[in-house]
Amino acid sequence: MSDYRPQQGAGRPLDWVNTTFLVVTPLVAFLGTAWYVWHHGVTWLEVANFVVMSSLTSLCITGGYHRYYSHKTYECSKPVQLFYLIFGAAAVENSVINWASDHRYHHRYVDQDADPYNILKGGLYAHMGWILFKDTRDQVRRFENIPDLQKDPLVMWQHRWYLWLVVVVTFALPTYIGLVQGRPVGGLLWGGFLRVVFVHHTTFFINSLAHLFGSKPYSLKDTARDSWVLAPLTFGEGYHNFHHKFQFDYRNGHRWWHFDVAKWFINVLKWTGQADRLKRTPEALILKARLEVQKELIAARVAASSASGRLWARLQPRLDAGSQRVVDAHQAWLAARAEYRHRAHDWAADARRQWQGKLAMHRADYEAALIRWRMTMRAMNRLPRPAA
Ligand SMILES: [Zn+2]
Ligand SMILES: [Zn+2]
Repeated sequence: MSDYRPQQGAGRPLDWVNTTFLVVTPLVAFLGTAWYVWHHGVTWLEVANFVVMSSLTSLCITGGYHRYYSHKTYECSKPVQLFYLIFGAAAVENSVINWASDHRYHHRYVDQDADPYNILKGGLYAHMGWILFKDTRDQVRRFENIPDLQKDPLVMWQHRWYLWLVVVVTFALPTYIGLVQGRPVGGLLWGGFLRVVFVHHTTFFINSLAHLFGSKPYSLKDTARDSWVLAPLTFGEGYHNFHHKFQFDYRNGHRWWHFDVAKWFINVLKWTGQADRLKRTPEALILKARLEVQKELIAARVAASSASGRLWARLQPRLDAGSQRVVDAHQAWLAARAEYRHRAHDWAADARRQWQGKLAMHRADYEAALIRWRMTMRAMNRLPRPAA
């Protein structure tokens, strides 16, 4: 990719189509649905229409638009791609071509002018303000960052038929489902309008709230943050600090207990032969990133203290040695575990037992190094915090 930075012109005029859609849909969704429920009540099918349509479209944005098309974190079969394109379009967040191009610029130029939803222009701007104004970028050069997607006939098909897909899947399909109970308007409101607004704003939260609130365990270089609150709302996209640091990982929540529906869905696709080549960040790299962040935070505290020069000269070698001990012990444990998993089935029972003892020893070494590191960190945290 060339070094083209797609800057937006100053004082952009309003984009009336986008603005009208983003203003009218919440009005219809909230006032229309409230009016309908007041006069006609609500049925289980309408609630199911909302839940199922929200889940399908949110999953297609998260697992499809984001992790498959924008970042290529895994490969998947044509039927899965078609599913992503059809129900992703129904989220009404533009075609993959536009969405992925914007998103790749967001990662490449995060917190800079060429970031389409730059959080430094304000929370509301990053949330939806950026969509309300006309796109003044060079519309040919802008797409230089998605040559792979422009060569994909299915993606280009979606781009061409995007508006029709919106009409049919976003509005006609839920209306038709409502018709089963003779309540087409109920179907349109719950599965169409209310659902579109819900998926819109939960997706937008990742561009706004996930760059404003939460922790930064893996990188301090940009504004992206991890938020376990946002994860369930977005099918797993809340671990945004991890995602910005390791954007080619198919997971956003890398721990097994991290709530990440898209990660679980992609795993199911792999088990059923529909996905392959899932990219995972090596555990050692994740650990190193965390230790680096912790050292950087201590360095900032030391720099703010009165005796910063002398103190840092004394502390730095101790911190480097402590973190290196954790990395080495972790590496030794992972290597032993990998060898055990690879060869254990060829071994006799007593050889296996012997290795299990060795593995337990490596794990204990790693845990001891980690405990020492945590104690050091606790001691360091007594240093005064730097002024914000
Ligand atoms: Zn981001
Ligand atoms: Zn991303």
